[in-house]
Amino acid sequence: MVTHGPENRVGRKPLAPGASPPRGTLWCNVTVRKTTLRASDISTKSIALLWSRIERRGPDECWSWTGETYVGGYGLFHVGDRVVGAHAAVFALADGEVPAGFLVRHSTCGNPPCCNRRHMALGDDADNVRDREKDGRTVRGDKHWSRISPEKRPRGEANGKRIHPESCARGDDNGSRKSPELLARGEKHPLAKLTAVTVQQMRARHAAGETFASLGRAFGISDVAAGLVCKGITWAHVGGI
Ligand SMILES: [Zn+2]
Repeated sequence: MVTHGPENRVGRKPLAPGASPPRGTLWCNVTVRKTTLRASDISTKSIALLWSRIERRGPDECWSWTGETYVGGYGLFHVGDRVVGAHAAVFALADGEVPAGFLVRHSTCGNPPCCNRRHMALGDDADNVRDREKDGRTVRGDKHWSRISPEKRPRGEANGKRIHPESCARGDDNGSRKSPELLARGEKHPLAKLTAVTVQQMRARHAAGETFASLGRAFGISDVAAGLVCKGITWAHVGGI
């Protein structure tokens, strides 16, 4: 059974100490891929190996994968130095390719090890989640792997942030510093109770001597929140302080 984690990174050698993973690496690369999987990528020898591990049955039955599997029971197959879903390899051979950004769903049977092209369709992550919900395959509560094997959770020293601290977007690398315009500040925030106009009114009334408690009642917020607004600690981007 393949598990998540740096030592068990599917299809990759363990990282050297201090080395960072290649860009675009997915921790669990069973689903959406960033590169297209083409039928021409799969050698004749690999094709023979692929079919030797599939239990072929009737045209409308599930064709089970008998080889190594991913978490969840998906067939695991090597194409060159890449690891792909066995079903995705079958799909690529039948249809020519699995385009980048797509995954191969078991749209008909919802059976992860199945390698029958007739049971598959191209989709995205959202389609896959809908299929899983529809088939009742979503694992929740005590059946979830994190409850069954809590020791596998990447906690403490095993956490990605400790293993690859250089990958954390800290300080000026953080998205909130790089693209501050994307933050939902002020009126753009879905939970905002005030607007730039009401903030300026509050500040003017406070300057004229009105108390925080009275302003809070008038604008439907707490006295503490009214104080933070009037002192410019919140809504700092609005003038009138
Ligand atoms: Zn099937």
